[in-house]
Amino acid sequence: MRFRATATTDPGLRRSENEDAYLLDTEGGLFCVADGMGGHAAGEVASRLAVEVLAREMARPDDGATLDARLRAAVAAANRAILETAERDPALAGMGTTLTALALARDDGGYTIAHVGDSRAYLFRRGKLSQLTADHTWVQQQVDAGLLTPEEARGHPFSSMLVRAVGIAADPEIDIIRGDLEPGDLILLCSDGLSGMVDDDEIASILARDLPLDDTARELAAAANRNGGADNITAILIRATE
Ligand code: CA
Repeated sequence: MRFRATATTDPGLRRSENEDAYLLDTEGGLFCVADGMGGHAAGEVASRLAVEVLAREMARPDDGATLDARLRAAVAAANRAILETAERDPALAGMGTTLTALALARDDGGYTIAHVGDSRAYLFRRGKLSQLTADHTWVQQQVDAGLLTPEEARGHPFSSMLVRAVGIAADPEIDIIRGDLEPGDLILLCSDGLSGMVDDDEIASILARDLPLDDTARELAAAANRNGGADNITAILIRATE
């Protein structure tokens, strides 16, 4: 199977800085979105560090380890690097980041996602959009418990309050999601600056237009800005061809 991929990032309309970072390595089959948090540019440091450490760790010889194990180890290394950096510099104390990384298996269309936080991975297959990741947010916990509806969660003042992040605690719980891609499938990785501004129906309608990949990414960011652009917007698109 072959893949094409593109990425876009945009500060949005209300923030001067961009605390999102991403990794696009189509050749190596490794993609990641990280959405940093923390004051005084610390969020930017955390998300960049996460992406750099992930890329470095995944570039090591695999020694026969599974993709799951390698991704888990790479996220754990990113977690340690952020904690250690924050320990050395008090201005960075409390920084952290989301991390949603997708690694493609060498030949067979299989993928593995490692996920912490509220960035998202979606699969768009035959016109239908499905969210592959679960948001690690307080509002999602309330939805799961039946205490909030998904609509109430979207507009909730605590909608972006995370219950898990990378770089905050010693041993973060990491979700691992595995699947197989078919020709024509489209994967979207994004920060909440996209998914918080553009609902699933609107995302699906943009993907369904089947524009060139770069144009689709631009259209997604433009839709987030049209809807308010309240946060930094990052999107990676990966298309499986044949
Ligand atoms: Ca964000």
